[in-house]
Parts: sequence; C-alpha cells; structure tokens
Amino acid sequence: MSAAVSLRDVHKRFGEVEVLKGVSFDVAPGEVVAVIGRSGSGKSTALRCVNRLETIQSGEIEVHGRRVDDPQLDLRALRRDVGMVFQSYNLFPHLTVAENITLAPRRVRKTPQAEARHIAVEALARVGLSDKIDAYPEQLSGGQQQRVAIARSLAMEPKVMLFDEVTSALDPHLTGEVLKVMEALAKGGMTMLVVTHEMAFARRVADRVIFMHTGKVWETGAGEMLANPQTPELREFLANGL
Ligand code: ADP
Ligand code: MG
Repeated sequence: MSAAVSLRDVHKRFGEVEVLKGVSFDVAPGEVVAVIGRSGSGKSTALRCVNRLETIQSGEIEVHGRRVDDPQLDLRALRRDVGMVFQSYNLFPHLTVAENITLAPRRVRKTPQAEARHIAVEALARVGLSDKIDAYPEQLSGGQQQRVAIARSLAMEPKVMLFDEVTSALDPHLTGEVLKVMEALAKGGMTMLVVTHEMAFARRVADRVIFMHTGKVWETGAGEMLANPQTPELREFLANGL
C-alpha cells in the first residue's frame, strides 16, 4: 500500500542554515509515528513542510500520493486533508466552542449552519467535550482548549493529523487528558505524525518512533527503541532531554 505521508531526501534551508539535511521517512495509512529529538533538531520544520507551511529546497514530499512540493498544488485541498495542531491552540476568544469548530467547515466547505452544528457535536464527542459546545474558550482549562483545537481540526475530516508538541504549554495534570484524546484517535485508525516530549506516549502509543538529531533522522524503530537506544546521541537525549 502506498504511504499516507512520504519524505524523500528532504533538504530545507533558512538562509545559509541547513535545517533538514536529507530527511526520509514514511507514515503508512493508520500509522502513528512519534518524532522526538532535541530542541532545534528540525522536528517542527519537518512537520511544517508536510502541509507546506514551509517550502523545501530539494527532495520530495507526498501526502497520499500528491506531491506537496508541486508548485501547482491545490494548497487548500492539502490543508483540508492534513490537520495540524500546535502548542498554542489559538481559539478565537469571542467565539463559542461550536463557532470555533465550525468556522473552517462553513467557510471552506460551505457547510450549512445546521449541518455545521452537527459536525461540531460529533467532533466534540470525539474529544470528550460534548457539554462545552456553547462555552467560550476562557471558560475552559488549557487542556480543554487544546481538545477543542483538536476537535476543530477533526471537523475538517483530515486524512492525516500533525501534532507539534501539543501538550508542552500545559500543566502536567492537564497533559494527560489531551494525550488520552490523542490515544483514542490513534486507536480509531487516524494517521498521525506526532512531535512530542512525552516519551511514555511515544513508547506506548506510537507504532514507530523517529529520533531526529541535527536535521537528520538519526535513529528509528518501534517504541522499544527507547528502552534500547543504539546511538550515543539517542542515549544522551533520553538521559538529559532537551
Ligand atoms: P525543533 O522543532 O526540533 O525544535 P525547528 O524545526 O523548530 O526545531 O528548528 C530547527 C532549526 O531551524 C533551528 O535552528 C531554528 O532556529 C531554525 N528555524 C526554524 N524556523 C526558522 C525560520 N523561520 N527562520 C530561520 N530559522 C528557523
Ligand atoms: Mg519544534
């Protein structure tokens, strides 16, 4: 079967600085891949290249067989298929949870209001927040707001979800509820590429772990690789973090 996401020898520079130095990996449909590594190793850049928030200098990136680096690419179609959730959830404070979730479907998909409401109901059920549909963001905890951000992404029915350190801004006691939602999505068959510092999550939930170091895929394997690192760099990262 062809990959959901495929990177082939991807090179990305910011000015003179090469940030991705020939990155290659695949994510199969339904697979959950965790990306770990030190701050500055290129994790976010790799993710941002997948939904073309960044353009690459050379190599190939495909999402479900579509070349992301093709200048003719339909960006809106790509962004519809590839959902992304960031550390900062950026909900609109003056809109209710339902309005935040349905904004994009209504604008992009021209979904009628009644149907949009139904989409919000379904998306909120998936993140366990059905009772907050008419709340405003400020009435929610950080963890709940992040779950709404995930629901907002799900409302577009993405084929692939990218998560970039979505729990990093949360207090430890709020992190768990977000990881639980992500684990449920994973179990439900969502294709997920997850940059995370949560090693327990990477080990337990991910089908595969990619350790990035200095702009390269340094080591990759099943979750057990975290218990048995093969390179000094991964050993060092696991011992000291960041
Ligand atoms: P990570 O997510 O692993 O912490 P990033 O992908 O954010 O790493 O960053 C990798 C490197 O690229 C860092 O050295 C960072 O400073 C640099 N970088 C990221 N984005 C930009 C940008 N827009 N302009 C210039 N340099 C950038
Ligand atoms: Mg990052």
